[in-house]
Amino acid sequence: MSERVIPLIDQRLVSVPARVPSVATAATGLLSDTRGRPLRDLRISVTDRCNFRCSYCMPKSIFDKDYPYLPHSALLSFEEITRVARQFVAHGVQKIRLTGGEPLLRKNLEILIEQLAALRTVEGQPLDITLTTNGSLLTRKANALKASGLQRVTVSLDGLDDTIFRAMNDVDFPVADVLDGIAAAQAAGLGPIKINMVVKRGTNDDQILPMARHFKGSGIVLRFIEYMDVGATNGWRMDEVLPSAEVVQRIHRELPLVQLGASAPGETAERWGYADGTGEIGVISSVTQAFCGDCNRARLSTEGQLYLCLFASQGHDLRQLIRGDATDEQLSSAIASIWQGRGDRYSELRASLPPDAGQGKRRVEMSYIGG
Ligand code: SAM
Ligand code: SF4
Ligand code: SF4
Repeated sequence: MSERVIPLIDQRLVSVPARVPSVATAATGLLSDTRGRPLRDLRISVTDRCNFRCSYCMPKSIFDKDYPYLPHSALLSFEEITRVARQFVAHGVQKIRLTGGEPLLRKNLEILIEQLAALRTVEGQPLDITLTTNGSLLTRKANALKASGLQRVTVSLDGLDDTIFRAMNDVDFPVADVLDGIAAAQAAGLGPIKINMVVKRGTNDDQILPMARHFKGSGIVLRFIEYMDVGATNGWRMDEVLPSAEVVQRIHRELPLVQLGASAPGETAERWGYADGTGEIGVISSVTQAFCGDCNRARLSTEGQLYLCLFASQGHDLRQLIRGDATDEQLSSAIASIWQGRGDRYSELRASLPPDAGQGKRRVEMSYIGG
């Protein structure tokens, strides 16, 4: 087999300055983009570092000991994150997801969660605050996270077989420790817990049924994610994508499923319930079924770049405003004008692109802006 060439393009260098419009935009919570999509969901990356090296996200060949991670001074401080999050919330954001890299590697993360938990939506409600983690530090941190105001967690877990799991995280991390972390999160009341499993054909697709059996009836929702062509370093190939329809078929053959309605507008997962009423699973078909039509998600990178799409080729530099002399009103207007100009819908357009078109292109890495 010929070796894959994985080009490295440092996406962090590509950003456009965020401009303050000459006329201020009032924050009414009713912002919409060029396709009429509101802003509801903000994903904040709190670190670009991780203790795993999942090959689909941070392949070891690139994210090695010489990789130039961001220096601490480049990261937004908790106060800066909270300040910018407050402006997003005033524009209609109801849900904040902390991500990374591995978010639990950011020191004193509980302090940030406490600050975010004090924010209120336009309707005066608390935010829905959640966190996506690889679970490796959950046993140690679950109680403190709950106490700081975190409501729930999503844990990434790509299989139950220890050999397969160790190979996928590529740092030989045992699956038992993640399962302990999930149990600790459950005991701490960080629920309802979701589990994300990225499915790669030929690598872990034989884990679909064991995972479904394991979590059925546990109150935990298992979600299968199609392996995506995100970033430019993972050597993505279409033939390694296992379509969600096939995941559902494989499970349905042994554990009958019925389709359920969407839980909320903009929800990425299609929901399926076990016919015997013992819970549900979700499938996220980012490759085979575009869901850009109601995508209401914005992403803030670790250093304060605003991305309008997971597949964006450039960010909008909010940090320069945050660290400059911009007032809250100016920051808020800049965010509004960026969202109002948004037309991104990469997944919808993917079908018309040549196969594997993204590899080698300028594209932001998932470990930099989070999932
Ligand atoms: N480190 C944390 C974790 O793994 O949960 C949070 C960050 S990680 C980038 C967020 C999510 O993105 C994880 O569920 C991960 O499995 C998913 N992900 C990363 N690369 C992916 C890819 N190429 N295709 C699909 N999902 C991917
Ligand atoms: Fe780390 Fe999460 Fe990426 Fe895996 S998916 S390398 S755990 S950031
Ligand atoms: Fe949203 Fe971009 Fe994904 Fe479409 S491709 S659903 S616009 S993040």
